[in-house]
Amino acid sequence: MEQTRAGGDVLLSARDLTVQFPSQHGAVTAVDEVSFDIRAGEVISLVGESGCGKSTLGRAIIGLLPNSAKITGSLTYKGTELVGLDQGKLTQYRGTEMSMIFQEPMSSLNPVFRIGDQLAEAIQIRRARKRDKPGNRSVKEEVLEYLGQVKINDPGNVIDRYPHELSGGMRQRTMIAMSLAQRPSLLIADEPTTALDVTTQAQILSLMSELTREYDMSLLFITHDLGVAGMIASRIVVIYAGEIVEDSPVDGVFTETLHPYTKGLMASAPSAFKGGKRIEAIRGSMPNPAQTIVGCKFHERCPYVMDRCVKTKPRLLDHGKDRMVRCFLYDS
Ligand code: SF4
Repeated sequence: MEQTRAGGDVLLSARDLTVQFPSQHGAVTAVDEVSFDIRAGEVISLVGESGCGKSTLGRAIIGLLPNSAKITGSLTYKGTELVGLDQGKLTQYRGTEMSMIFQEPMSSLNPVFRIGDQLAEAIQIRRARKRDKPGNRSVKEEVLEYLGQVKINDPGNVIDRYPHELSGGMRQRTMIAMSLAQRPSLLIADEPTTALDVTTQAQILSLMSELTREYDMSLLFITHDLGVAGMIASRIVVIYAGEIVEDSPVDGVFTETLHPYTKGLMASAPSAFKGGKRIEAIRGSMPNPAQTIVGCKFHERCPYVMDRCVKTKPRLLDHGKDRMVRCFLYDS
């Protein structure tokens, strides 16, 4: 399923992107000066534990954060700056240029409308926004086509069913169909397979990989499981406590894991489980995002911690071969 890194133009570019939320104890930094690019046709996995900021970053990109969120830095999409853009203009990007699917499709599907009607609405919105000329194709024909694309059996029957009548896998396929119906250039998928059984998870990953190529979309795949990330992406960006700690082509991460946190994720990934070998947890827990940390944010959990790690914050270093790492172990 792995894809080679696309050499297309930069589609989305984040520079020093920071997201903060107000709290009783002051500003909580969920995303901390993140910089990365997504190229046209590229599949990137954003990996980290729960609470590391990866979902907040995905929502910041598509503009789904609450109004209380303070976003600073730069986020450009096809050259247009999105930070500070008013909601009206942002809506032009959300759902047409970019689309997002979530872990639990029931939170996005409307329980009181039939699948066919919800998909038809998505198609009609796209046709209106993009001024699509569908030729002689009816909306219903397009609905059936998209359900077929996501490999739903008997789409003619499924269009008349309500979301609760479908299995978890079929609901997630429906959500993917609704996203495809928008013809986005960038799809953001936030833990889309986490709630599924292993077999369905593999099928959905394979489907997403296939459709990304077929529709020439870029994909930002958010997951806590490094093994799953490696199955779908060409590049892996590891995020810890809101900061990027490693950014590398997928092969590099698995053949020579650099950052101690990435090593911990590797050892604890459920998909990396091999019979007889223990899955090891990373000791300790993520620091409180309201707390100001001097030094490396991972130092309290790191087995390689040195004096300087406690006193000085490491920079994201260029490690060569298109790899970046934030760790003093690689600072010569
Ligand atoms: Fe560990 Fe130090 Fe590297 Fe941080 S900078 S990951 S504490 S070795």
